[in-house]
Formats: sequence, C-alpha cells, structure tokens
Amino acid sequence: MTRVDLHLHSTASDGVLPPETVVRHAARVGLRVIALTDHDTVAGVPAALAEGQRHGVRVIAGCEFSVAAAWGEIHLLAYFLPAAAPALESFLADQREKRLARAHKIVERLEQSGVALSLDDVLAESRGAAVGRPHVARALVRRGCVEDLAAAFARYLGKGKPAFVAKQLPRVSEVTGLARRLGAVTAAAHLKELATRGNLARLRAEGVDGVEVRHPAHGDELARTIEALAAELDLLPTGGSDWHGDEDPRGERGGLGSVTIPDAWLGRLDSFAASRQGSAEVAWEAS
Ligand code: AMP
Ligand code: ZN
Ligand code: FE
Ligand code: FE
Repeated sequence: MTRVDLHLHSTASDGVLPPETVVRHAARVGLRVIALTDHDTVAGVPAALAEGQRHGVRVIAGCEFSVAAAWGEIHLLAYFLPAAAPALESFLADQREKRLARAHKIVERLEQSGVALSLDDVLAESRGAAVGRPHVARALVRRGCVEDLAAAFARYLGKGKPAFVAKQLPRVSEVTGLARRLGAVTAAAHLKELATRGNLARLRAEGVDGVEVRHPAHGDELARTIEALAAELDLLPTGGSDWHGDEDPRGERGGLGSVTIPDAWLGRLDSFAASRQGSAEVAWEAS
C-alpha cells in the first residue's frame, strides 16, 4: 500500500520546516507520495522534488489558494501545477503582495490595541515566504506579547479579534479557471461542516474538481459523509495531514503520517490530470 499525503506546508509559506526537511520527515514516516501545498507559492517545489528523488518520495507540485466562496473564505488545493507558468507566477505574486499589505494592516491594528510589534518583527519570521497570520503569531510569542500561538490567535489574530484583517480574495472561478488552463486539478480543502450537498454542488459548478475528504479537522463520520457526497456529485476525493511541522494549538492539524489516502484516490487524480490538457509549460526541475 502506497502511503499518500496530499496536503503539506513548508517555510515557503507558514510551515516551520524547509521543503527538503518536510520531504525527509515524509520519507521517515513511510510516505511514498506527497503534495507540497504551500499558501500562495510554489517556491518550495524544486527543493522538495530534489529531496524526493534522493529518498524515493514522489512529490506533486501543489499550492493552497485562498478564495471567496458564497459563505466566506475557503481554501482550494491545486495539484499538478506546471513549472515556470507566467500566468500562475503573476497571480501568486499578486496574492503574496496582498498578504504583505495585510500583514502591515495587522501590525497597525495591533498597535491600536497597545501591542508594539513592527512589520520587521513579522518579516523576520516569514523571511521572504508568503506571509500569514502564523508568522505574526510567532513574532508575538518571540516578543513576549503572548504566551503561545493559541493565545496570539485567541486574543488578537482570530476572526472577530481586534487585529483580524480579512484577505482580499479572488473568486473561486478565477482560481479554478487558472488551474484548468494550466492542466492542474483543484480540490476544496478542509470544509468541515460546510461540506454540505448544496455548497459542494455550487463549488463544482464554479469549476472545483475535488474535495478534501480526509483532514485532521474531519472526524471519521464527517469524512464518510463527504466521501459519499463526493461520489454523488462526481468530485474527486482527496486528503492530507495539513502538516505545518509544528505543534497545533487547535488540534486541527495532524502529525505527519496521521492522514493518508488510498492509492485509488491518487490514481483517479492522476488520470484526471492526464486527461486535462495543460498549456505548454516547462517541466519542473529539482534543485
Ligand atoms: P492566513 O492565511 O494568514 O489567514 O493564516 C492561516 C493559517 O493560520 C492557517 O495555516 C491556519 O492553520 C492558521 N490558523 C488559523 N487560525 C488559527 C488558530 N486559531 N490557531 C493556530 N493557527 C491558526
Ligand atoms: Zn498554513
Ligand atoms: Fe487551509
Ligand atoms: Fe493547509
């Protein structure tokens, strides 16, 4: 049985381990196929591919996009993204610029709440990666403003808290359209109880190809429900640990190796991607 985890993060976004280290840990726990799905970047893919070649781990080039669904922000995983695709790179560069502007606003809100944190403190955590709230949270911990990451989100960064700043999000169809043109496959990530028949049907109508069935935030019963809905709606089932290489204050992310998917699900994703003609982009090179 191949062990497959299609949702992993690295220091290219808000994970704490470099992509090559993520791959080494994946090999150590017996994973044979992984997707690197950093937020708004594919910058970690070449290093992950190179390490994967050394350890016999197949690495799928992925990305996790934030998009606006009818009910609010959701995340779309994309798999089998091509290398050096100008349309993808410019889209992602724009998303990362918006993340930086948002980090700046978060810092301003923190200041209004009496918390002295500079943008440089945050950028010292993200170090050129796609910047996100976890970097702000780590900066707050390092500066001694809060005890731990959970407190940073609970007091300042979580939705409805004083320093929460919503992202400016692209529409679902913008990302699914881009992915389709690039020959990539998309799946709605960790929808939890929002994975209703109505919501999934709507996402499918907006061009989403699959749905994350297995995720640490999905209990067994919820996963079975989503799997049945995926079959009914002809959405490809997928899954992964959403491992960020760190401890998870909410318990919503699994340890590495804790969430895997059947070979058959990967086979369906592979066939679907093969049937979707990509534009003529160059292949990834490990580096
Ligand atoms: P962002 O993309 O900047 O909105 O940050 C989202 C990231 O923050 C995701 O990786 C989440 O797992 C993480 N996150 C969101 N809420 C929390 C929380 N309450 N505690 C810890 N991590 C969180
Ligand atoms: Zn993340
Ligand atoms: Fe996510
Ligand atoms: Fe994720």
